[in-house]
Amino acid sequence: MTDERLPGLYVHVPFCRSKCFYCDFYSITAASLIPAWLSAVLTEARLYKERFGIFDSLYIGGGTPTVLDTAQLELLINGLLSEFHFLPDTEVTIEANPDCITREKLDLLRELGVNRISLGVQSFDDDHLSFLGRQHTASEAELALENIRTAGITNLGVDLIYGSKDLSEEKWVKTLEKALTFKPEHLSCYQLTLEKGARFGKMKDEGLIKPISEEDARRFFIVTSLFLRENGYVHYEISNFALNESYYSRHNQKYWRHVPYLGLGPSAHSFKAGVRWWNDRSVKSYCTRLDRGELPIEGEERLSEEQLSLEAVYLGLRTKEGLDIADIDDHPRLGPIINQLLGTGLIEMVDGRITPTAE
Ligand code: SF4
Repeated sequence: MTDERLPGLYVHVPFCRSKCFYCDFYSITAASLIPAWLSAVLTEARLYKERFGIFDSLYIGGGTPTVLDTAQLELLINGLLSEFHFLPDTEVTIEANPDCITREKLDLLRELGVNRISLGVQSFDDDHLSFLGRQHTASEAELALENIRTAGITNLGVDLIYGSKDLSEEKWVKTLEKALTFKPEHLSCYQLTLEKGARFGKMKDEGLIKPISEEDARRFFIVTSLFLRENGYVHYEISNFALNESYYSRHNQKYWRHVPYLGLGPSAHSFKAGVRWWNDRSVKSYCTRLDRGELPIEGEERLSEEQLSLEAVYLGLRTKEGLDIADIDDHPRLGPIINQLLGTGLIEMVDGRITPTAE
């Protein structure tokens, strides 16, 4: 049994083998800092001990958590499991990349209690992978997917990216078809964005790369949604699809429902009782502060009732669950907007809930 209001624990592993050209997540390539970061994260965990009660999800994300070697993965996961309380059927996810997820690591992760792996495949086309600046080939991704299955992981998520100029609709559908041959329980299909903090953002400013048009973005989104729904997946959030409700990401749903979460690691965010706070981004200063025994918090905001309820509206509209019509009573301005959206088929009303259509 799970209580959907139980908090979730997130750990940010800020290391990658190299920087993908589209990525603006906080990550660095200095692997020499991993031991100091690991010790700091476990100190941070000790400082929060007992402050969040029982968790029913643990999400180890990044960066690339699987750049850690087996000894480091074991120290991290065992450390977290001993500092905090978790329900017996906790969803334990780790993000992995094909270039550093070995069979040995998979066996260990499974032994340590990891029951969900989210693999950054992004594409099954070598040209597209090198355009994105990925460190692996399509065949390495296929091997990793096979290894995940033979290691006995029964909840597999595959991340893919669409939306670059030279990716035709036909190639994209082939990518989806290829992904489905591994029968993933979960798929995340992200649209490529040219973020300021990423190499692609700089290339965009220099006129070397252009985003696809809004009309093309819309078309790819609809094609993806239709294709995956026809193949038995539920489109349960803008970018997320699952075989059925039991495979919705338990952890990510907490972000969309204002359920408390604790984030450990550089740049990680936390939320509890209407307060959101976030950690220092720099690995060095994160470690220094924890060495001194202080929490590495960089900032916090207390959300007013109005902010919380506006967030509930836009977070709800990201999901198939939508939002309860009663929740918008506090916002008289929204009434006419909702009516207009209903008239254009962009949202629909089902059992007193407003839900977005694929359009
Ligand atoms: S996309 Fe993933 S692997 Fe690539 S740099 Fe970003 S966090 Fe690292």
